[in-house]
Amino acid sequence: MHFDTRCVRAGVQPDPTTGAIVPPIYQSATYVLEEVGRDKGFDYTRSSNPTRAVLEAALSGVEGAAHCATFASGMSAVDAVLRTLDAGDHVVSSDDVYGGVSRLFNTILARHGLSFTYVDSSFPERVADAIRPNTRLVWIETPTNPLLKVSDVAAVAAVAHAAGIPLGVDSTFATPALLRPLEWGADIVMHSTTKYLSGHNQIIGGAVLSDDAAFQEKMRYQQKSIGAIPSPFDCWLTLAGLKTLSLRMARHSENGMAVARYLSVHSKVARVTYPGLKSHPGHAVAKQQMSAFGGMISFELKGGLEAGRSLMNSVRLCSLAESLGAVETMITHPATMTHADVPREERLARGLTDSLVRLSVGIESADDIIADLDAALH
Ligand SMILES: *Cc1c(COP(=O)(O)O)cnc(C)c1O
Repeated sequence: MHFDTRCVRAGVQPDPTTGAIVPPIYQSATYVLEEVGRDKGFDYTRSSNPTRAVLEAALSGVEGAAHCATFASGMSAVDAVLRTLDAGDHVVSSDDVYGGVSRLFNTILARHGLSFTYVDSSFPERVADAIRPNTRLVWIETPTNPLLKVSDVAAVAAVAHAAGIPLGVDSTFATPALLRPLEWGADIVMHSTTKYLSGHNQIIGGAVLSDDAAFQEKMRYQQKSIGAIPSPFDCWLTLAGLKTLSLRMARHSENGMAVARYLSVHSKVARVTYPGLKSHPGHAVAKQQMSAFGGMISFELKGGLEAGRSLMNSVRLCSLAESLGAVETMITHPATMTHADVPREERLARGLTDSLVRLSVGIESADDIIADLDAALH
């Protein structure tokens, strides 16, 4: 099946009891056994639920992965992957990871005996140099949040595999519509389904996918043992969103390019970072491994913190909000919002300047988004 068809149809059968074309919300905690030792495949919703099972089959089909486990959030999905490691193990991670991911690594998992080295994974040789005898996982994002650094998945996979280490990719920004990391050699794919996969700012959720049955059995075990599972209703909403993923990502990408081009020639804008622009250092790699460039843009204003604050407070259509990847255009000021917890020195060292603006371009008319930015920049 083509990708567009998989988004609509993969994993979804008419409901076996009624023929309902949309899988019902099985809002049930437990299931009645037919007799001792004989159930219908479900016993308790922490372990498995029919609506969640449909979502997991659908996501597997869309990503092209043999297995999928869904979680209550993107963060609990990352946590589930990391909990397969043991105290004493080491992880090499992209340096510009989602703020919540570095917080989980540094403030929680580090206390449980894991250690982390952060490198700019757009240089695969830096990943290679950071690998130690006790490294058990390479973890990257591409494109990254918020600087949109692009990593060559095949090249990083080769480096990790040469050392016998699996590569995990947080593919939230790209989604399977634009990049399918398993096809480029990655071993594990993780998504915050909160973002583009559900796409409508309605739920918090996460997913872990792979072709490795033994690894995926560990994900099931964590769903059952820790219980960070999505509700049946959230699974149902995610299924509804997933059907339009391909259409939405095409529009996000088209609008992203139009807005990036507009910003790149604006006199008040110092720098625009968008993987679709030739000026982006990762443009060639992005073009090779992605089918389009998505809806995430970051840009820097001339005029520092004040200019950033003034833009944020002047937009009307663009919503000042912390999330991304939904149909509505959202604008964020990392210095005072998503990355306010990061000490200023460290922020600046990472390239997160005071005037950096992150834009999640929605699927409204690009003309209206540009008109809003244009009025606000004046
Ligand atoms: C949002 C996000 C997460 C965390 O997901 P939640 O669903 O908010 O828990 C992880 N990685 C990336 C790249 C994200 O954008």
